[in-house]
Amino acid sequence: MKIYLVSSTDSPEFTRLKCSFARSTVIALDAEWKPQRSSTSSFPIVTLLQVACRLGHDSDDVFLIDLTSIHLPSVWELLNDMFVSPDVLKLGFRFKQDLVYLSSTFTQGGCDGRFHEVKHYMDITGIYNHLQHKRFGRKAPKDIKSLAAICKELLDISLSKELQCSDWSHRPLTEEQKLYAATDAHCLLQIFDVFKSNLVEEITSQDPKHINVGLKDILNGSDFTSKIVTAKLCKAADVIRAMTQNGQNIANGMVSRKTTLNTMPMDENLLKIVRKYGERILLKESDLLPRISKKKTRRRTSLKNEKTDKHLVCSMDWQGPPPWDSSLGGDGCPKFLLDVMVEGLAKHLRCVGIDAAVPPSKKPDSRKLLDQALKEKRVLLTRDTKLLRHQDLAKHQIYRVKSLLKNEQLLEVIETFQLKISENQLMSRCTKCNGKFVQKPLTIEEAIEAAKGFQRIPNCLFNKNLEFWQCMNCHQLYWESFRLLFVDLGSLKCVVMSEQTRC
Ligand SMILES: [Zn+2]
Repeated sequence: MKIYLVSSTDSPEFTRLKCSFARSTVIALDAEWKPQRSSTSSFPIVTLLQVACRLGHDSDDVFLIDLTSIHLPSVWELLNDMFVSPDVLKLGFRFKQDLVYLSSTFTQGGCDGRFHEVKHYMDITGIYNHLQHKRFGRKAPKDIKSLAAICKELLDISLSKELQCSDWSHRPLTEEQKLYAATDAHCLLQIFDVFKSNLVEEITSQDPKHINVGLKDILNGSDFTSKIVTAKLCKAADVIRAMTQNGQNIANGMVSRKTTLNTMPMDENLLKIVRKYGERILLKESDLLPRISKKKTRRRTSLKNEKTDKHLVCSMDWQGPPPWDSSLGGDGCPKFLLDVMVEGLAKHLRCVGIDAAVPPSKKPDSRKLLDQALKEKRVLLTRDTKLLRHQDLAKHQIYRVKSLLKNEQLLEVIETFQLKISENQLMSRCTKCNGKFVQKPLTIEEAIEAAKGFQRIPNCLFNKNLEFWQCMNCHQLYWESFRLLFVDLGSLKCVVMSEQTRC
C-alpha cells in the first residue's frame, strides 16, 4: 500500500488520485473528524477523507485527502462522481454517518452541491454478518462488531484504536496518524478480498441460470478472457463518452452520464457481487439537517415548546456535577439508571463494579423512570431524546449515550463521568441484578449448600479448588473460572464475566 497525502488540487498527488479513481473498480472509504462540535453546526467537521483504491493485487493506493487545506469546491465533483459511479464498488464501515458529516463539511466549505447518494455501496458489517450466517448458521449478532474485531478475526491484524480520538484537525498530521488513517480504509479492501471468493462461489452455486447465457459464458472463462472483454468494453465506453462530449445526442439519453471520471467497467465477478449485494446510501433532506437547526425550526413553529427544547439543547452534552457528588451531599459512589434503550450497557457497567440499575418493570412510563432516578440520586442514561425534554430532571441527572456499541458506550460513560475503575471492583457486583457480592468468597462446601434447590453447580467444578461468590440480593452464585471475556477499551482493559458457563 502506498500512502499519498493530498493537500491541494495542483499537486502530483491529486493527479495520481484522479488516475487511480479511473483505474479502480473497488474503492474503500473512511473519514476522520474533529469530535468537538462547532457553534454553527451540530455535525462534526470532517478533516480527513481516506480513499483506498484497488489497482491490482499488491498495489493499492491510499489517499489521505486533507479537507482542511484542499479547496473543497474543486474536489466535490470528482468525489461525487466516484460516489455515484456505477463502475466503482464502494466499501465502507457504517459510511452513511460519514457521508452526512462530509456533506455538511462541504456545504460549510462553500460548496453548492451536497453528497446525496452513494451507489453500489457495500457495508463491511453487512457482508460479515451474512457470511457468518452462511458459515455457522448464526443469526446476525445484536451487537454490531467493531471494525477492529472484524479485522482481528479475518485478517489477524490488530488495529490500534489509540489514535482514533487524537486531534484530527491538527496539522501537520503525525506519521502515526497517517498510517492509522490509511490502514483504516485499506483494511476494508483486505476484508473484501476474504469475502470476494466466498461471495462469488455462493452466487454461482445459488443461481446457475445466471451463468449459462450467451456472452456471460465467455465472461466466466479464464481471467485472461475476462480481461480482454473488460478492455474492449472500456474502449467502447470511451467512444461513447467521446461522442457525448462532442455534443452528439446519444439516443434517448441512454448515455447521458457526464462525469469527470474516466472509469473502467467492473469485471463480471464483481458485477455479480454488486448486483446481489450492492446497496445505495441515499441521504434525505432531513438527514442533512443538523439536529440543532431541526430544533430551531420546531421552536419557531411552536412557541409553546420553547422552554422544553431549550432544555433539550442543553442536555445534549453532559454538564456536571453528578447527583452523587459530595458538593450535592452525595456519597461519591456513581449510580446510574438505564432505560430500555441502553439496557445492555447495565451488565457492562456492573462488570466493572459500577452501580447500574434498571427499572423494575419492563416498560415503565417515563414518569416512573424519572421518579426513580430522582429518588435514588441516579443519573438516567438513555438514548431516547424524548426523555431529555422532561423538565423534572435537572440537566445533571440525565445523559444521552451517543455510542451505539456497548463497549464504546461503556467507555463513553467512564470517560464522561470520569469513573475510576479499580481492579478489586471488577468482580464485585452481580451482573444479573446489580446486587453486591458477599464480602468473603465461599468454599465449595458453602457454595453447594447455598446452591441447594436453586442453582446447579456443574460437577466438573468440584475438584478445582475454586472460590465462589454469592450475590447478596438474588443469591446467584458466581465462580472464579467464569468464562472471562476480555474487553479491550483502548486505554482501559477490563475483564467481563458471563454467567453462561459451560464445562
Ligand atoms: Zn444478584
